[in-house]
Amino acid sequence: MSIITVSNLKKSYGDLEVLKGINFNVDKNDVVAIIGPSGSGKSTMLRSLIHLEEINDGTISIDGQELVKNGVYAKAHDLKQITSKMGMVFQHFNLFPHLTVKENLEIAPKMAKKEAIKVIQQRSEELLHKVGLTSWAKSYPAKLSGGQKQRVAIARALMMDPEILLFDEPTSALDPELTGEVLQVMKDLAQEKMTMIVVTHEMGFAKEVATKAIFMDNGEIVESGEPGALFTNPQFDRTKAFLQRSL
Ligand code: ADP
Ligand code: MG
Repeated sequence: MSIITVSNLKKSYGDLEVLKGINFNVDKNDVVAIIGPSGSGKSTMLRSLIHLEEINDGTISIDGQELVKNGVYAKAHDLKQITSKMGMVFQHFNLFPHLTVKENLEIAPKMAKKEAIKVIQQRSEELLHKVGLTSWAKSYPAKLSGGQKQRVAIARALMMDPEILLFDEPTSALDPELTGEVLQVMKDLAQEKMTMIVVTHEMGFAKEVATKAIFMDNGEIVESGEPGALFTNPQFDRTKAFLQRSL
C-alpha cells in the first residue's frame, strides 16, 4: 500500500516549467533514491512533498490524506497535520546556530507543546545516542564537523517521530571522509524500516540501500525501477549517459 502518491505534479517558476507532470508512488518501508543531473527538479519535487514549495497542478497524497488535489491545497490546519508526517534533512544542515545541539533537537517539539518537557528531553538524549553525539549535546553547531552537523539534523528530524524522512543531497556538502558516518546513520534507519526518499549522488548507497531508484531529467521522470536493474540495464539513452558520468 502506497504511503505517498504523486500524480501529474506540475510546477513552474514564472515561465520556467521545472516539473512537467511527475507521477510516482512510494510504499511503506521503501527507500527511494532520486538521481539526476543538477537542475532537473529533484529539490523542487522533494520540497513540494513537504509543502516548502506550492505546486501549480497535480495531486499529492501522504498516508491516505490529500495534501493537494488537482492543484487545490487542503485547509491550513490539515496541511500542518499532513506535513507533520514527514521530516526533512537538507544539504546545508539548516541547524539553528544560536542553539546547542540538544536545544536544536528539542525546539520543535517544545514549541508544539504536545508533550511533557521530560519526555522530549528523554527522546533527544536517546536520539543523540543513536547518532553517536551524546558528548556533543551542549556544544553549538559551529564546533561540529559537517558530518556531525548532518547527524544532528537527522536526529532533529526524528524528534517529531515522522512516518517518512526526506533527504536532499545529505552528503553533498561534506568532505569525502565524512560522508560515511552520515550514510551509516541512513543505512541504520533503512534497516529499521524507515520510509525514506533520498536525493543523492551516492550511487553506491543507492545500489546497496535503496529499494527503488528514480532517474529525473529536465523536470520529468525518465525511468524508475529496482536500483540494480536501473543501474546495470538502463532503458533510455539519457539514463545511460547520466550513469556513465556518475559511476
Ligand atoms: P535539482 O535539485 O535537480 O538540482 P532544482 O529543483 O533545484 O533542481 O531546480 C530545478 C530548476 O528550477 C532549475 O532550473 C532551477 O534553476 C530552478 N529553480 C529552483 N528554485 C527556483 C526558484 N526559487 N526560483 C526560480 N527558479 C528556481
Ligand atoms: Mg537540488
